[in-house]
Amino acid sequence: MLPEFELLMPRTLSEALEMLTQAREGVAPIAGGTNLVVDMRGGRHRPSVLVNVAGLEELRGIRRENGHVVIGATTTVAELLEEPLIAEAAPVLWSAARVFANPLVRNRATVGGNLADASPAADTAPPLLVLDAEVQLTSKEGSRWVPLDEFFLGVRQTLRQPDELLTAIRFPVPPSGAVGGFYKLGLRKADAISVASVAVVVEVGEDGTCRKARIAMGAVAPRPIRAYEAEKLLEGRVLTPELVAEAAHLCAEATSPIDDIRASAAYRKHVVEVLARRLLSEERR
Ligand SMILES: Cc1cc2nc3c(=O)[nH]c(=O)nc-3n(C[C@H](O)[C@H](O)[C@H](O)COP(=O)(O)OP(=O)(O)OC[C@H]3O[C@@H](n4cnc5c(N)ncnc54)[C@H](O)[C@@H]3O)c2cc1C
Repeated sequence: MLPEFELLMPRTLSEALEMLTQAREGVAPIAGGTNLVVDMRGGRHRPSVLVNVAGLEELRGIRRENGHVVIGATTTVAELLEEPLIAEAAPVLWSAARVFANPLVRNRATVGGNLADASPAADTAPPLLVLDAEVQLTSKEGSRWVPLDEFFLGVRQTLRQPDELLTAIRFPVPPSGAVGGFYKLGLRKADAISVASVAVVVEVGEDGTCRKARIAMGAVAPRPIRAYEAEKLLEGRVLTPELVAEAAHLCAEATSPIDDIRASAAYRKHVVEVLARRLLSEERR
């Protein structure tokens, strides 16, 4: 059963920020509610006041701005799929949206909620990490942009302060030569939490050398992580099968997975290595 709570319905962002500041103790923002309501029913989270941010105009929309793609925090996963700018500029994110939950959940689940929840298995996190995304945190005092990689602190822990809202996500528009992909392994083909996921974006020059490599992984550490050593190995070199295999091995080395009901830690490491090798090999073609 849902515990009792007070639901506040702000009409503007500044009203919402004021409500967060006033309530402070036991307050939580709610967007799609696809995590929060489940957690409240399960007794894992007991906020006494919910501030509904889903209807705030200031948090909506996807646009191109000053060389960046900017995504409002309450953009739903379904809206990511419908927006041509995402399919064109960030196919790695579009691919993650396509395998996210099911159509019902995609219609409610927001990108901001997915990141703010900070599950190690959050499916928009690895693609946004390889796109060098930043998140905007806004309080009554003003806004700050934080690299997504610094935003995640641990399981369900982020840099967000209780009086802040995640208001937007942005990433630089990738150059035309950038290619990438996302693979998620679940226990079934649809509506599955990731056993492990990998996102890759590489930029390869005309001479065949890798100019920039970004690799990120989900569900294999207390938070979504980048594979920094593997990225370093690839940059400035031609992506031969041997180099790709070595990089994929470094990806697995960077993980610290757990055994749980979905998979063993050893299997997760193995999956990461296979998925990273596969994605990097595809980008070489
Ligand atoms: C059946 C089912 C299947 C699912 N499948 C997947 C899946 O395949 N992949 C996946 O990654 N997730 C999945 N999820 C989890 C969930 O749907 C996503 O994490 C979703 O993106 C959460 O967004 P939301 O808007 O519903 O967040 P909410 O539940 O509203 O909030 C989640 C958390 O974020 C906070 N929050 C929300 N918005 C903001 C904001 N703007 N600023 C600050 N804090 C905020 C809330 O306080 C809460 O702590 C699934 C959930 C269900 C129920």
